[in-house]
Amino acid sequence: MSIQSNLQHIRDRIQAACVRADRNPEDVRLVAVSKTKPADMIDTAAEAGQTLFGENYVQEFLAKSEEVNASVDWHFIGSLQSNKVKYLRDKVSMIHSVDRLSLAKEINRQWKKSGETVDILIQINLGEEETKSGTEENALEQLVREVAALPHVRIRGLMALPPYLDDPEEVRPFFKRLRQLAEKLDKLHIPGVEMRELSMGMSHDFEVAIEEGATLVRVGSAIFGSRY
Ligand SMILES: *Cc1c(COP(=O)(O)O)cnc(C)c1O
Repeated sequence: MSIQSNLQHIRDRIQAACVRADRNPEDVRLVAVSKTKPADMIDTAAEAGQTLFGENYVQEFLAKSEEVNASVDWHFIGSLQSNKVKYLRDKVSMIHSVDRLSLAKEINRQWKKSGETVDILIQINLGEEETKSGTEENALEQLVREVAALPHVRIRGLMALPPYLDDPEEVRPFFKRLRQLAEKLDKLHIPGVEMRELSMGMSHDFEVAIEEGATLVRVGSAIFGSRY
């Protein structure tokens, strides 16, 4: 399968999931996750109309973003160490993986240098999996309040990486939970906080995520092929 036809197939499936869920397809953006894939594959996807890409590793992202010819929009979606934030400044338009105050403060400090504000999502560890990053549910509200006070970051919603389960239907409760948490936060009307984005769903479960309200689906292997 080519990247072009993979992308077309994904777009068709996004469209169909939106119809099923009675949602506007314009409210769902496809983040093409290009980690470990070379720059020319990103250019090929860009030629096929894909404009938004997600990367996980800072070093790899820096090298590749230099090599990619197309003008594309980057989101950072991987776990992030504070000492690497400086490399992302002015290069990414959204960071999906903010899960602690110290990281948010460093993002704030870096973007302040250019006088800009960056959109971020708060990542939640829904499965309470020890190996995964993400803030715990019971710490969420306080984290959101503290991050909201930082002038150079803007909270736009929530992100989660639920457990991998073979049957995507079994992931549905996690997606539902993320949406409910966003709705709850929205009702608090915390100044500067907008719960408009739900980043959830990957290659094998993005349709269920869309049915549950995803606005950003992060799809890698279904576009670029397996990474292993
Ligand atoms: C790798 C990755 C994806 C994409 O996974 P696929 O199964 O290849 O679609 C999505 N989100 C995050 C955070 C990832 O690390």
